[in-house]
Amino acid sequence: MSLKKKRDHEQIIQRLKSSLNGVAQIKTLRQIETPSGNYPFQSITLGDNNSRHVLVSAGIHGDEPGGVETICAFLESGKYKPFLSQWEITILPCINPYGFEYDTRENHNNKDLNRLFKDESPLPEVVLTQSIFKPSYFDLTLELHEDCDSDGYYLFQKSNKPGGLELGYKIIDAVKNIIQVNLNNEIDDIKADAGVIHRLKNANEMEWWPMAIYSLSMNTGHSFTLETPTNLPLTTRIEAHLSAIETALNECPE
Ligand SMILES: [Zn+2]
Repeated sequence: MSLKKKRDHEQIIQRLKSSLNGVAQIKTLRQIETPSGNYPFQSITLGDNNSRHVLVSAGIHGDEPGGVETICAFLESGKYKPFLSQWEITILPCINPYGFEYDTRENHNNKDLNRLFKDESPLPEVVLTQSIFKPSYFDLTLELHEDCDSDGYYLFQKSNKPGGLELGYKIIDAVKNIIQVNLNNEIDDIKADAGVIHRLKNANEMEWWPMAIYSLSMNTGHSFTLETPTNLPLTTRIEAHLSAIETALNECPE
């Protein structure tokens, strides 16, 4: 099967570079080898050595460009700057660059990377993502996703520290000024309350782990997987994610 390139990963790299303008370096951790060529797997750290640590990641599902675009907008708009008095912000701008270019959820091996965080020998994209984590390092991890089956915004919340659920509702409260919220009692066959899915299984009960559960297993304070509806205009999806990021950083309990 030959797929057509839908987006340009290199263009994203160039946008990130010019938005940072020397403020921080984009680190290439490794090249991901695919039949369509090599893609750099990259990370960015802003506010090195600040006391609070957040990881913002996007693009693990290649057909969800809204997250990658949100990270570009977060940097281009300078919206991250007020947070650098407190936060060290680590960014994984595009975990699945092949999928991003070819608009596939999976990577070039046809694997959903967000199902492989418990694997004994995970794929390079997963290993590289895992390499960003140190035990008890992150106060907060934010994963930017999109959902083509949802008409409204929602999120998954799970925490190792108190105050996570309240923070989840605060994020939804901020986002609802921009975008409607998915108020269904069940989303993805999981019980939801006002756009917040918080009754998640424990890690040891799960056959496979998404990145969020790996994050929690590394004793992250609060983990949020943020889902914006794909069927709205890209600018609206970006605005909603930006508002979620800003609220999470402003309101994250110490
Ligand atoms: Zn996704």
